[in-house]
Amino acid sequence: MIAISVILPSLVNPQAGIVHCMPHIKVHNWQLLRNLKEHFKITCFIGHDIRSFALAEHYFGATQNCADSIFVRIHHGAGAGVVMGGEILLDNRYNLGEIGHIQIDPLGERCHCGNFGCLETVAANSAIENRIRQQLEQNYPSQLKSNNCSIKAIYQAANKNDPLAIEAIKHVGHHLGKAIAIIINLFNPQKVVIAGEITAAEKVLLPAVQNCIKTQALKDFHNDLPIVTSQLAHNSAIGAFALTKRAM
Ligand SMILES: [Zn+2]
Repeated sequence: MIAISVILPSLVNPQAGIVHCMPHIKVHNWQLLRNLKEHFKITCFIGHDIRSFALAEHYFGATQNCADSIFVRIHHGAGAGVVMGGEILLDNRYNLGEIGHIQIDPLGERCHCGNFGCLETVAANSAIENRIRQQLEQNYPSQLKSNNCSIKAIYQAANKNDPLAIEAIKHVGHHLGKAIAIIINLFNPQKVVIAGEITAAEKVLLPAVQNCIKTQALKDFHNDLPIVTSQLAHNSAIGAFALTKRAM
């Protein structure tokens, strides 16, 4: 073994090796890198999970042939990684790309960040599941059942042309497209990659995202811009490995 890499969904400073805070576990300025090095006496790296996945996609996946790309992942929340010139973009405060907290609906649901109508309140897996559950309670016609509307059941139903599942995923694609259009206008990438369970219904999701981008991103920026799904979606350890690979 030559190194240990740990990636986390948190506010993390990879240089100092400190995890400032995490969304669902209470930590405060956690000296994770120092602790790992002291315990294992080996080279260690820590990093933000989505930024690390973006780097992995660049090394091993859909953006290998692009210097400039955007990676967006939908899971418990929504986040983005920006790769520019083959390097993951980080600032002096080590945190950027929080696409999940772009407000897409001023009258929307309360987000865990304290604001209202963030992308996460519409696009996170739990938000999609809750929306479907509410529609089922109002007897919206669907093959889905309120006691089984996991994200997997939803994308499977969408792929079998279930009207409710299709509408729910189009709704997510529309709002996700708004947020992605903003990032395209800011960074003018060569490719956009979307990752997450919901991309299993890409035939419904991607056209909804693309329709939005067409009308909200600069024409010169979105013309011939591929919007694709991740090639590494089911291999999450690869994000941590990307940090070791970068050092090598
Ligand atoms: Zn938020």
